[in-house]
Amino acid sequence: MNQSLSDAAHLIAKPASVLVFTGAGISVESGIPSFRGPGGLWEKYDPAFIEIDHFYSHPEQCWPQIKEIFYDHWGKAQPNAAHKAVAAMQKHGWVHTLVTQNIDALHQRAGSSGVVEFHGTLDQLVCTECRFRSAPSKELLAPAVPECPSCGALLKPDFVFFGEGIPENAQAAAFEAAEKVSSVLVVGTSGQVMPACYLPYEAKRHGATVIEVNPSESAFTENGTTDIYLEGKASDILPRLLAEAEKFAE
Ligand code: NAD
Repeated sequence: MNQSLSDAAHLIAKPASVLVFTGAGISVESGIPSFRGPGGLWEKYDPAFIEIDHFYSHPEQCWPQIKEIFYDHWGKAQPNAAHKAVAAMQKHGWVHTLVTQNIDALHQRAGSSGVVEFHGTLDQLVCTECRFRSAPSKELLAPAVPECPSCGALLKPDFVFFGEGIPENAQAAAFEAAEKVSSVLVVGTSGQVMPACYLPYEAKRHGATVIEVNPSESAFTENGTTDIYLEGKASDILPRLLAEAEKFAE
């Protein structure tokens, strides 16, 4: 398998050429653990608290864990060098579309815009009845289950719980982009969560070269989808890839 940073840099340093597709791994060095694997969230917690039916029937049980994990902990995380390198690639005009499976809003905090959030975001609370939306203010993030200021119904974080569908706009934007790009830069995802994981396959089917950054092999590396494998941590590899690409920029 090709492991050339220089080949990858040549591919991405072109106007609107690359679909960047990120997963939990890009935020690990910001202190946000992945769900699965050693040190993952499911070693400590039962995922039921973000299953949609369970949340609706027992919000008072689920909310303290949601608040603790996603707001008291993840909400305070800062972007790392990998998020910043992606934002710089966007500023150079090389990124056609940035799609993330993450809900932590760290791409935006690093300066990225137009992020397609495939699984939604923790940066908004949404009413389960009237669709009122609000940033998670201090008042709403109280220990008691948050209620909609407009209609009094239950508020939930605007990310996709287990048992919920993918936001239609995000899914459409991501898969439309996959048909148009000449390369896809896959960062920190195991490639196991459907339907997001179909994105690199779809891009490849339409002729894109698949570049992957991950310290361990993923489904894409293992099944031969990855064309260029850059083995290592995102916060190490992406700044180096950016610097190399800046040498070739058109
Ligand atoms: P995953 O947990 O299935 O896989 C994480 C991947 O990241 C692994 O392949 C691992 O080898 C890799 N990785 C670990 N450290 C890395 C590093 N420093 N640099 C680069 N890669 C590294 O993650 P997934 O494929 O994104 O699927 C998990 C789902 O859970 C996603 O849908 C996502 O919505 C959600 N999730 C989000 C966050 C977040 O918002 N930060 C965190 C955990 C889970």
